[in-house]
Amino acid sequence: MNILVLNSGSSSIKFQVVQTDSALIARDGDRCLAKGQIERIGSLALVAFQAADRPPLKEDAPLRDYRSALDRIVRWVISPESGIEGVTSMADIHIVGHRVVHGGEKFRASTLIDDAVLAGIEDCIELAPLHNPANVRGIRAAREVFGRGVPQVAVFDTSFHATMPETAYLYGIPYHLYRRYKIRRYGFHGTSHRYLAYRYRVLNKIAKEDVNIITLHLGNGCSACAIKNGESVNTSMGFTPLEGMVMGTRAGDVDVSVIEYLSHKEGLSLPEMITLLNKQSGLLGLSGLTSDMRELLEEEKENGDRRASLAIDVFCASARRRIGAYLAELGGADALVFSGGIGENSPVIRQRVCRGLEPLGIVLDEARNAALKKGQLGRISKSGSRVKIDVIATNEELLIARDAFRAVSGLPQPTFSPRRSRKP
Ligand code: ADP
Repeated sequence: MNILVLNSGSSSIKFQVVQTDSALIARDGDRCLAKGQIERIGSLALVAFQAADRPPLKEDAPLRDYRSALDRIVRWVISPESGIEGVTSMADIHIVGHRVVHGGEKFRASTLIDDAVLAGIEDCIELAPLHNPANVRGIRAAREVFGRGVPQVAVFDTSFHATMPETAYLYGIPYHLYRRYKIRRYGFHGTSHRYLAYRYRVLNKIAKEDVNIITLHLGNGCSACAIKNGESVNTSMGFTPLEGMVMGTRAGDVDVSVIEYLSHKEGLSLPEMITLLNKQSGLLGLSGLTSDMRELLEEEKENGDRRASLAIDVFCASARRRIGAYLAELGGADALVFSGGIGENSPVIRQRVCRGLEPLGIVLDEARNAALKKGQLGRISKSGSRVKIDVIATNEELLIARDAFRAVSGLPQPTFSPRRSRKP
């Protein structure tokens, strides 16, 4: 089956066409046939498409909304120009799978979308005003383009973390506020952490219950996850993706009193403060230069820029702190897994994150780390390291496609149920 996987952002759509079915899943043979993205929807949009083993297509196109952007994607996917094997008409796209950021407490598994589910996703807009509206627009656009005959499936960033115990997801605020408004840690990047746990299990030929690892997803957004017996027991992002580690433009953990103090000093409204913490902080805010880690590393190396170094050091320290916290949470881990654009591609950052962790049993092999080529996966810890260190390229789209296939075929889905609190 061919699954169109959509990741709809505020003014962008990323997509992949993934071929999967039971036999392919069983032998881990499902594959991406094409991928691409459209950015700056609403103005002169930037289109970048690529089918497997074909040259990329890049162009500017005036695309005023999601519907026109999706039309453009689908026209290309089924055209001879893309040359995707076995996809020559709309009928060759069998299912649309959507990445949905927030599923609240309601959605603990990937779900076939009907009107009630769409309403449920809309209800979660309150919890994720920056993300869920785009996901809803993506679902509506897909309904318009494909009609109701093509099933659509929602795969939630939050659902993998639904197994967290109360001790991990409750904040230390009055309990009735959790009851009344569902204020709690939800966690995000769940499909990525779930993929990393899955891939680690496959690579090491172990059962799901034997996966006890810490995963670090370091991209523009960053999060860490403590995985015990194959399940998420804690993660660094919280009620929204703002909490946790220092990220590209997000501040991560900040004493909330700063908000009142700063809004008073700078005359900023509450929404302006939240924008500052989401969009002008992190690597960008600390360096005053860019949120892009690769550029910061270049600035540091070529120009010795002090603020670039500082931003990188604060970033690495925040990741390191999270590793320490989760080693305590898990009572030790078998492996630390690096992923995301930074985690997969930057030996220097991996080395700086691991620096000083040797007494905790995390011993990086510098030669192996440096030798790992961009985008390669592999083990980079020293042979005797108590905690292994692995680099694994994440692949959220693959799990979205598999979940979508299973949901439509009536096959059992992984479901993530909350755990009773564990006694320490
Ligand atoms: P997103 O979270 O938006 O999916 P990515 O996972 O692609 O983003 O990560 C983007 C980040 O990865 C950027 O900060 C980028 O600079 C960084 N990155 C990509 N390649 C490298 C590299 N070779 N060295 C350092 N950082 C890199």
